[in-house]
Amino acid sequence: MSAPGDSTRLWIKNPLAVLTPDGVDAAGGIVAQNGVITEVLGAGEEPATPCEEVYDAREHVVIPGLINTHHHFYQTLTRAWSPVVSVELFPWLVNLYPVWARLRPRDLELATTVALAELLLSGCTTAADHHYLFPGGLDDAIDIQVEATRRLGMRAVLTRGSMTLGQDDGGLPPQEVVQDAETILADSQRLIDTHHQRGPGAQIQIALAPCSPFSVTREIMRESAELAERNDVRLHTHLAETLDEEDFCLERFGMRTVDYLESVGWLSPRTWLAHGIHFDDGEIARLGAAGVGVAHCPSSNMRLASGTCRAVELEDAGAAVGLGVDGSASNDGSNLILEARQALYVQRLRYGAEISPERALRWGSAGSARALGRDDLGEIAVGKQADLALFRLDDLRFSGSHDPLAALLLCGADRADRVMVAGSWRVVDGAVEGLDVPALVAEHSAAARRMVAGA
Ligand SMILES: [Zn+2]
Repeated sequence: MSAPGDSTRLWIKNPLAVLTPDGVDAAGGIVAQNGVITEVLGAGEEPATPCEEVYDAREHVVIPGLINTHHHFYQTLTRAWSPVVSVELFPWLVNLYPVWARLRPRDLELATTVALAELLLSGCTTAADHHYLFPGGLDDAIDIQVEATRRLGMRAVLTRGSMTLGQDDGGLPPQEVVQDAETILADSQRLIDTHHQRGPGAQIQIALAPCSPFSVTREIMRESAELAERNDVRLHTHLAETLDEEDFCLERFGMRTVDYLESVGWLSPRTWLAHGIHFDDGEIARLGAAGVGVAHCPSSNMRLASGTCRAVELEDAGAAVGLGVDGSASNDGSNLILEARQALYVQRLRYGAEISPERALRWGSAGSARALGRDDLGEIAVGKQADLALFRLDDLRFSGSHDPLAALLLCGADRADRVMVAGSWRVVDGAVEGLDVPALVAEHSAAARRMVAGA
């Protein structure tokens, strides 16, 4: 995504602190050129040759651009909606499906822009979205999301979601929001052919994402896995989010969630799962051995009282653990640095205080990159993409703090001062470049009111 001509060498000089793999010394800063990190400098070191641009980062903590592994951008239109403020997942969904069925193209464009801008301001440079709603007139939902992502200059893994199992066939969603397999698979192939980029630096990627065990048939799970294999794209779904879902699998399929996953050809490193809460020890070992990815979404899991992901055990077993804010009707925000703080604290409740802020930040960067199958993102190291988030610590909330990296999570950093994607600044002085936020909020809020009117 680097524009030709941006071969300018930029030195981000002498940062206050840097999150590097294995604590590599980067006190001298980072050099970026052509969208890639070309040098990581130790204390007192200078770039090999002089740089055309120098950015003095002495007041900034620099971390890899954060990567969000699970979201439903459209749900920013139904945040904090009274009927579902205090209920668990299944009634939450049953109340929301008819509202979501009213989604129109312009609504989705606004919602996508709102979610991405929020993420970007929180230090996120790459976001995955799970979009599974295609009511009449919204056939080009993913194309709309591609355009919105490009306008903001971010990276995205946009998943072609699907629902095939309606209420008439024993599923949870109403018939009006499910599609037939033929339509889903044809559109999946079209989206891969049209938008999916491969190799280092890819800006837009497509993945296939049947929604959840209780909203899709086994057939679409199997056929999606085959299509993903043929096209070498990734697979995503919700799994083991609630005990209701586990009961559903036992009743309908006669097996637990991981057995179901394996039975449809999904127990593979191509797959990343949203939530992954209700696994037993044997299932954690199998998921780890298969190298499956898990999007840990602590805020949503607490909000819906779903449970706690065994993230540390999953990661230690070999799974790729990343972070997700989840859809904005169950969080109800899209702030990834705050999500890292939630992950730190909820995992400490389970595993103890030795879980470090650095580990939580790595879940949101290198771990997320691995979950999305990206070895070019998520770390500050030579050869990786120049995707960076810079935070200042001069806010009231940081006053009196000592360890700058720990302060980001412990003092509750919630907004990046600067964010770089592929070597170009997308956030400057805490504002998204080229985005009229008040106008966006006004139109998005009006769309949100229309969606719930009369519901
Ligand atoms: Zn979700």
